[in-house]
Amino acid sequence: MTVMHNLIQQTFVTYLPPKKKVTPSGWTSFNAPCCHNFGESQDTRGRGGVRIQGDGSIQFHCFNCGYKANWIPGRNLNYKMKKLMSFMGFSTEAIRKMGLEALRYMDQTIEYKREYKPIHFTEKPLPKAAKPIMHWVNEKNLETPVINGLAKAIEFINMRSLEIDDYPFYYSTNNENQMNDRLLIPFYHKHKIVGYTARWLGEKNYKIAKYFTDVPPGYVFNCDQQNYNRQFVLVMEGPLDAIALDGVAILGSEPNKRQQEMVNNLQRKVIVVPDKDEAGNKMIDRAIDYGWSVAYPQWESGIEDVGDAVIKYGKLLTIKSIIHTVVDTKIKIELQRKRWYNKI
Ligand SMILES: [Zn+2]
Repeated sequence: MTVMHNLIQQTFVTYLPPKKKVTPSGWTSFNAPCCHNFGESQDTRGRGGVRIQGDGSIQFHCFNCGYKANWIPGRNLNYKMKKLMSFMGFSTEAIRKMGLEALRYMDQTIEYKREYKPIHFTEKPLPKAAKPIMHWVNEKNLETPVINGLAKAIEFINMRSLEIDDYPFYYSTNNENQMNDRLLIPFYHKHKIVGYTARWLGEKNYKIAKYFTDVPPGYVFNCDQQNYNRQFVLVMEGPLDAIALDGVAILGSEPNKRQQEMVNNLQRKVIVVPDKDEAGNKMIDRAIDYGWSVAYPQWESGIEDVGDAVIKYGKLLTIKSIIHTVVDTKIKIELQRKRWYNKI
C-alpha cells in the first residue's frame, strides 16, 4: 500500500477502476481510459499504468496508445493531466478543484523541499534504437533477430523472478557495444533518464563486459521508487537486486560522499545488504563510516546473494530474512562480520 500524501493523489485513486493490478515496483495497471480518444481501440488488457509516489507525484503511462501524463507537487496541473482526468471520468468542476489544489501546494512545496540538499543530474539519451520492452512486445512484424533478442531479455528478467512490468526495462536493436544482446536498465532521477546499465544476455565471455554502464558520478539507483510507507531503505550493490527488493543500488561497493547524501536524504533507517565477497566487505566498511546498519541474512548454503535468495524464498521472505538480522552498532557490525565471512 502506498501512503497518500495529498488530496490530488487520494482523489485520483478513487477514480481508478475496481479491476486493477499492483506490481511490486509500485505501478498499478488497469484498462487505459485514453486510447479510444485517439482513434485507437479500447484497451482491454490492462495497459494503462499509474504510479502514486511517496514524493506526492502521480505518473501515468499508457502502453497501448502511448499517452503520458504526470503531476509533481509544486507544479500546476498541466493540460495532459487534466485531459487524463477527464478520460477517467472527473467532471469539469472536479478537475478545476484539483487545479486549485495544485496551486495551493506550489507555496508549501518550496518550504518542504528546503530540508533537502538539492542533487541534480543531467538528462541523457539511451543507446540508439532503445525502446521499452512493452513497446517491442506490442509491435507487429518484428524481424527474427529482434524477436530472439527480445525473448532472451524477457527470459533473463523472468529467471531473476521478476516480471517485465516490475521496472521500465528497455531493449535496443542496435549492435553497438552488443546492445542488441543486452537488457537495458534505465537510470531515473526525478522521472528523467540520467544514465543506464546494459546487462549482457549471452554466454559468459571474457572479452565482453557483463555490464555496459553510463552513470553520472554520485548517482544512487532507484531512489525515485522509495515509497514513504517503509521505515527503512535497503542498500545493495546491483540494480537487479534493488528492483527485486524495492531497495536502492550503489552500482559498486564503495558509496561515495554524494551517494551517502542521496541515501540519507531519503530520511529513514539505512540498511546495507552486503554481498558475501570482498566487495561486500568494503561496503560494510562504508556502512560503519556513515553510521548505517548492516544485515547479515542467514541463508542456506548455495544461496550467495539477494538474487539467489529471491529466486529461492520469494521477495517477502527475503526481506524478512534481511530485517531480522540487522545490526546497528559498530561493535556488533564488526563482530557479526567476522562470523558471517567465516561461514563462506
Ligand atoms: Zn491509451
